[in-house]
Amino acid sequence: MQRCDALARHSELPGGLTRVFLSPEGRDAGEAVLGWMREAGMQAALDAMGNAVGRYEGVRAGLPCLMLGSHLDTVRDAGKYDGMLGVISAIECVDALNKQRKKLPFAIEVVGFGDEEGVRFGTTLLGSRALAGTLAPEVLEAKDASGTSIASALREFGLNPDRLSNVKRKKSEVLAYAELHIEQGPVLEAEGLPVGVVTAINGFSRLRVALRGEAGHAGTVPMALRRDALAAAAECIGVVERVAKNVPELVGTVGRIEAKPGAINVIPGEVLFTIDVRAPVDDVRVEAVDELRSLISNIAQRRNLQLEIETLQQFRSSACAPWLMEQLERAIQAQGLPVRRLPSGAGHDGMAMKAIADIAMLFVRCKGGVSHNPAESITEEDAAIGAAVLFDFIHEFKPLSA
Ligand SMILES: [Zn+2]
Repeated sequence: MQRCDALARHSELPGGLTRVFLSPEGRDAGEAVLGWMREAGMQAALDAMGNAVGRYEGVRAGLPCLMLGSHLDTVRDAGKYDGMLGVISAIECVDALNKQRKKLPFAIEVVGFGDEEGVRFGTTLLGSRALAGTLAPEVLEAKDASGTSIASALREFGLNPDRLSNVKRKKSEVLAYAELHIEQGPVLEAEGLPVGVVTAINGFSRLRVALRGEAGHAGTVPMALRRDALAAAAECIGVVERVAKNVPELVGTVGRIEAKPGAINVIPGEVLFTIDVRAPVDDVRVEAVDELRSLISNIAQRRNLQLEIETLQQFRSSACAPWLMEQLERAIQAQGLPVRRLPSGAGHDGMAMKAIADIAMLFVRCKGGVSHNPAESITEEDAAIGAAVLFDFIHEFKPLSA
C-alpha cells in the first residue's frame, strides 16, 4: 500500500494522479519499480518500449518464465491502484521467495507495462502488444496532442524504436501470463468477497467519427439553412446510448467530443467524437457497431453533412485459460475463501499477451466498484489477501505440459 502511495506521487497533475506513456513521471515511476525489483532479487531494466521488466531465475538460468504484470501508466486524474497494484503485488511475491532463498522450476518475470490505458497516443496496450510482437510498425507513427509520434517520443525518452523487435517474446519463453488487478466493478463488493477469478476480458471497438457541415454566424443564418455538425453529433450520441441500452451486456460510450471552431457565436462546422463499444460476445459487438454506423450515416444524410467513420482499434474478447483459472481457484481455496468467477468489462494487458501465452486474471475487490477516479480505493486486508493468493498460485504453479 505504501508503494502504491509512493508511485502515485509521480504525477503531472498537482494534488492528483496523471501519468502517461513516456513522460518524465513515467520514467520516475519506472525507476522506482526497477529498484524494488532489484531489491527483490531480480535482474531489472527498461525494455525498448519503456516496459519495466524484472526477471527472477528458476532452479537454473534461462528457463521459460511465468510472467506476471500489469501497467504503470494511468488515465487522467486516476486512482492509485489500477495497474500499479498488480505490478507491486507481483514484486512482493518474488521478494518473499527471494527471502526464503527459494528457486522454482521456472523463471518468474514481472512486467510493469509502460502503456495500457492509451491516454497519450489514443491507442492502448502499446507495452504488452510490443512484448507479444503484435504491434504493427505503423502504429509508432500515431501522434499525441502536441504532434509528437510514438517513435520520436521513444527517442526523446532515450529508447531506440528500431530495437522494438528485441522486445518481442517467443511463445516458448512464456509458460503463462497472470495479472492481479482491481475489479473496477461492484460485483465482489456486493457479494462480500475479497477476490475473484476472471473468465474472459470483454472485446471492444473504438471508432472516431467526423461530421462536417458548415460554420456560420449564430445570429444571421436561419435555422432551416444550417448544417450544424454539433447538433447532429448530439443526435448520434443519443443513438449510441439507445443501441447500447437495448442489447444485454453491451455498453457504448461517447467519451470525447470536439467542436470547431468552438465559439459561442459560431455554428459548429465540424465535430469529432469517439465511440467505445464493448461486449463479452464478439458477434454482439460487431452487429452493434454495424447498426451504429448505419444509424449515424442516416443522421448525416438527413442533415446534409459529410461523414467519416474510422475504426481506431478493435479487440476480440479474450477468454482466460481454464487450466490457469483452476490453479488460481485452488490458491483462493487455500486461503479458505469461496471461488467467484466473473468477466472483465474493462480491457487489460492480457488481451495482448494472449497472442503468445495463455492468460489468467485475479480480481481484487475495490470500494464501490470505482476506478479511473481519485476515489478508487481498496483495503489493506484485501491487498494482503490478493498478494497471498498470487503467492500461492506462483508457488504451486504447474505449466500445462508438466
Ligand atoms: Zn488497469
